[in-house]
Amino acid sequence: MANDEIYQRIQVAIMERRLAPGTKLAEERLTEATGASRAKVRQVLSRLAHEKVVTLIPNRGAFIARPTVQEARELFITRRLIEPGMVDLLARQITPAQVRTLRRHVAQEQEARNANDLRRIIRLSGEFHIHIADMVASSFLPRIMRELTALTCLIITLYDKPNTPACPHHEHRDLVDMIEAHDSAGAQQRMLDHLLHIEHALDLDSTEPAPPDFDAIFKRDDT
Ligand SMILES: [Zn+2]
Repeated sequence: MANDEIYQRIQVAIMERRLAPGTKLAEERLTEATGASRAKVRQVLSRLAHEKVVTLIPNRGAFIARPTVQEARELFITRRLIEPGMVDLLARQITPAQVRTLRRHVAQEQEARNANDLRRIIRLSGEFHIHIADMVASSFLPRIMRELTALTCLIITLYDKPNTPACPHHEHRDLVDMIEAHDSAGAQQRMLDHLLHIEHALDLDSTEPAPPDFDAIFKRDDT
């Protein structure tokens, strides 16, 4: 299996929650399963580590990342800076063929919801945002959106409140309606609201456990 395919399969597996945060990616298992050399597997893992989707721990190996609350907040700040601008541009230049692609995608999302297929719902929700990036630009933006989407899936898995599995119902369809109508200001605002809804559906307020206070633990009674 080629490097790119291994990389993409891992990204999809994260988006479908087949690889949970903290899962160990043992090199020997990956070489067995993919038929790729150890060197290739290492290249893919270091690429994923560079994107913060994988954490490499010396002497222990590679693990699917567990983004912190701080990283989760920063990720949504980044998405809010990028994605309203994306739909603004797309609403100005969308073609009828692109509208059909987006509508087909939204219909697939609806089918997955009807079938209650959670893995598919989450993956398709993320892919909607990647489709928009692909339509706006061909080089940097799609790559950045793929990275941000994989990280978002890890964050949703870690900080999800029960029963809020993906992008809120109907909002993608509303966005497509506005983009098709060339309503760039409306689409921009709708995307901003949409990203806020996703972020607010997460439980990012529960404080992370404080680091141990070693000074207190080892404080000598006679001091
Ligand atoms: Zn969405």
